[in-house]
Amino acid sequence: MKHFEYFSTLLPQMVGSKEGAVAPEVVPSAAFGYASAQEAEAIFAGEVAKPFYARMGNPTGAKLEKVLAKMEGGAGAVVTASGMGALSMVLSAFCESGDRVLCVGGFFGGTYALVNETLPRFGVEPLLCDVDDYDRMEKALQEGVKAVLVESVGNPNLKLPDIRRIALLCNEHEALFVVDNTLTPLVVQPLKMGADIVVYSTTKIVSGHSAALGGAAVFRGVAEEGEKLRAAKFSALHPLLQKGRGAIGAILKKRALRDFGMSANAFGSFLTLLGLETLPLRVRRVNESVEKVARLLHDEGVKVRHPSLEGHEHHLRYEALFPDGCGPLLSLECGTKERAFAFLNASKLLTQTANVGDNRTLGLHMASTIYRDFEELDKKILGVTDGLVRLSVGLESPVAIAEDLLAAWQTAMRAG
Ligand code: PLP
Repeated sequence: MKHFEYFSTLLPQMVGSKEGAVAPEVVPSAAFGYASAQEAEAIFAGEVAKPFYARMGNPTGAKLEKVLAKMEGGAGAVVTASGMGALSMVLSAFCESGDRVLCVGGFFGGTYALVNETLPRFGVEPLLCDVDDYDRMEKALQEGVKAVLVESVGNPNLKLPDIRRIALLCNEHEALFVVDNTLTPLVVQPLKMGADIVVYSTTKIVSGHSAALGGAAVFRGVAEEGEKLRAAKFSALHPLLQKGRGAIGAILKKRALRDFGMSANAFGSFLTLLGLETLPLRVRRVNESVEKVARLLHDEGVKVRHPSLEGHEHHLRYEALFPDGCGPLLSLECGTKERAFAFLNASKLLTQTANVGDNRTLGLHMASTIYRDFEELDKKILGVTDGLVRLSVGLESPVAIAEDLLAAWQTAMRAG
């Protein structure tokens, strides 16, 4: 059975009791009372699992964490205020001044800014490399890179990594391997492919409704033997490895969440849990629709980019390694900024917004929005041209989507 088929509607209902309230319970309290001084001590020592202060987690978020860990086959998860919160939490928990982080492939603008502008302020050096440049990857790993970060599908360049191959290299060279799986929940399962941590912006398709900003880091269990986190380069983390299988959760919480406070709020976690109920159905629909829309537009001569199309550089990889699709994105090359604007403004169906993975179909001109402050060289690396429009296919009829986009394209091309 397909992974998403198995989980259909099961996701939230497989955690907790079926008795009592059917919808997830929202517990908005910031603080939690303790039964006694002894209990307070035990909770703070991690010997009793009860909420103690919402910056370190609340019961609604704890349910979401359990559901996401089940979905991913992980040992646990930590939910955060946003996807950027999850990425910042992971990188700041594991890295310290003098470390290097290798970013492989295409990156969402926020992630690119985090590793290229913000982390260097704290002494963490970024290295960039193409998804297929294994020589560069290997060299960087041999030189002691601490963490490797990859998006399961490049946003917006739609390049596809070979996650298993990169995981093997990371394991061989004892580097932490983090996969941002925001666009491909259920269809890509990075922990099963050898990743250590899977990051989500749950704001996207995990929720689907654009009503809740959120993020999560889902992590593998720490092994008793042959554990790469016991390597010398992770020595600052070694005391926390005593926490056993769930030690990565302790690392994330004690080295980042506690001090930076990128914590999820209960209402946001509640809304995310509502989205998860229908995630398997939406994932299937969107991944089928995006291929149909790409094909219909391509056949009409629209300059559309998607790995399901033969001309895409990762078409064969898509067929071999992404049998259930690679998420809701496709992109159009309109040639110029003016034509891209004319296209977006002519569409009656698109919602123009910076989000992706929504139930509605979304569109955005990349160079004038998310990437507006980026240097030309950085835009070139990330595949952002003046005419690039990113589209995120929603749940509408794929034929209706394609008809609208084609009409808008024709209007834009006539406008010159
Ligand atoms: N990762 C990817 C792939 C994204 O597309 C985004 C947002 O667009 C993020 C991370 C950041 O997520 P958030 O906006 O929830 O902070």
